[in-house]
Amino acid sequence: MTRQFFVGGNFKLNPSTLAASSSLIGGLNSAELDPATEVVIAPPSIYLLSAKESVRSDIKIAAQNCYFKESGAFTGEISPKQLVDAKIPYVILGHSERRTLFHEDSALVATKTRAAIDAGLKVILCIGETLEQREAGETGKVCQAQLKAVVDVTKEADWSKIVVAYEPVWAIGTGKVATSAQAQEAHADVRTYLAEAVSPAVANNIQILYGGSVTASNCKELARQQDVDGFLVGGASLKPEFADIINARK
Ligand code: PGA
Repeated sequence: MTRQFFVGGNFKLNPSTLAASSSLIGGLNSAELDPATEVVIAPPSIYLLSAKESVRSDIKIAAQNCYFKESGAFTGEISPKQLVDAKIPYVILGHSERRTLFHEDSALVATKTRAAIDAGLKVILCIGETLEQREAGETGKVCQAQLKAVVDVTKEADWSKIVVAYEPVWAIGTGKVATSAQAQEAHADVRTYLAEAVSPAVANNIQILYGGSVTASNCKELARQQDVDGFLVGGASLKPEFADIINARK
């Protein structure tokens, strides 16, 4: 298995000043990080450029969202082309907060994914079930439906530009992390689905991250799971323990 360990920091709408954003990045710049881990941080859009200028060269930057149009009358949006031009290589799409609070459905997430890949971005594609769906035994079905929307608009080669983040909604920001068995099962299901829907090679090569209340104290156990290739970290990415999560496999 040659999948590189990948840790993303999703800062969400944090911090709330440029000075605090700079000091967060300063902390990462001086941390000792496992060189074997691919690290990507996603600051709010207003801090993307300053983050890119100031962060160490082994940490890449992601936007937290983008639109599918290149330019035009779309107030408040950022385009994939603008991100590529600004040398921001990644974008997070389909985060559950976008799906829930901003009413993005799987078709829109798929359209954005298509546009982002066409423009030359790499996509961190988030999927995951609500607690209600898990309790109804629908975790696999929900994740597959969210993936299928993207499968329907992509070709096999596009999947080398996609990292999947499995983020159960009930675990995001709640302190209620999935057990390593729950994460492993969901990740293995994603791989099984992609093997059938796209190809066994894509299923084998794609990095599948776990997200939802990852901390320094639970990351090592999760990182030992065969199909867990890294993390998408929210709250803990704003704290010094983010370095420990990056170093989870060390
Ligand atoms: P959390 O968020 O680590 O704060 O639970 C994860 C995410 O939303 O990506």
